[in-house]
Amino acid sequence: MVDHYCKRCGRKLHDKVSISRGYGSTCFEKIQSHPDLIYLLEFGSPEESEYEKYHSLLQKQIEKRLAN
Ligand SMILES: [Zn+2]
Repeated sequence: MVDHYCKRCGRKLHDKVSISRGYGSTCFEKIQSHPDLIYLLEFGSPEESEYEKYHSLLQKQIEKRLAN
């Protein structure tokens, strides 16, 4: 059986719901309140110019949110 890990915190996922989401329940809640983070986690590739644009645009917002 393949192990599944939370895409946000890297913890091992045990239940089917979390595995299908790719996140543990705690991280999933946090990510839902920060949809821009989902974008970075799912599509964050430094090679993509679109990501670069998106990242520079949202970097300050994200830093502000993470500081809370
Ligand atoms: Zn997690």
